[in-house]
Amino acid sequence: MSIEQNLLNFKSTIPGNVKLVAVSKTKPVEDIMEAYNSGQLIFGENKAQDMAFKYPQLPKDIEWHFIGHLQTNKVKLIAPFVSVIHAVDSLKLIGEINKQAEKNGRIIDCLLQFHIAEEYTKFGLNLEEAEELLNSDIFKTFKNINVTGVMGMATYTDVEEQIRKEFSYLVSIFNKLKETYFNNTDCFSEISMGMSGDYQLAIEEGSTMIRIGTLIFGERNYKKQN
Ligand SMILES: *Cc1c(COP(=O)(O)O)cnc(C)c1O
Repeated sequence: MSIEQNLLNFKSTIPGNVKLVAVSKTKPVEDIMEAYNSGQLIFGENKAQDMAFKYPQLPKDIEWHFIGHLQTNKVKLIAPFVSVIHAVDSLKLIGEINKQAEKNGRIIDCLLQFHIAEEYTKFGLNLEEAEELLNSDIFKTFKNINVTGVMGMATYTDVEEQIRKEFSYLVSIFNKLKETYFNNTDCFSEISMGMSGDYQLAIEEGSTMIRIGTLIFGERNYKKQN
């Protein structure tokens, strides 16, 4: 099936208020153009070099979301144009994003990534670490970033109950942070959770933004990269 058909079919299965990030990582600009021509404006990439390579070749009303682990030394590659960075998990990283955003005269939206899965990963904050970040004096001086919500990835499993538990835990973290740190702003509003394999559960648990690659663009070629 064509990317256009995939997109139309997919969109008919999700509520209109859930934002769709079309994850175009490893896919050529031609595929992104096909999705764009079908009305998709938000695209997600997980490698700074790839995003910086594709950006100049594509229409300027595309909203670029960085969805993977971002090294501090790569922030400058995407700072001139990226809209949202989904996986912020350290004060050092958000400090660099603030610095590069300032250099470009921009404000970049950031989501705090939480480690909610059972699987081991060195990426993602726990609640205590997030509170430490938000409470730090240096964080309060950052003028060129906006923390607009949270992001997480559930365990890769068929056990529905487990996935639901992890997503609902992320929602509880979101609610706690909103109440404690963002209760006088509407900006803190996004819960980025749900991928091709678990987006339905994510939406049922309260996702506001899903990140979908395979169901739109087809399988990725894992020989080259993921
Ligand atoms: C690749 C990726 C996705 C999309 O995965 P699919 O299973 O292809 O939908 C979503 N989020 C992140 C962080 C990813 O790296």
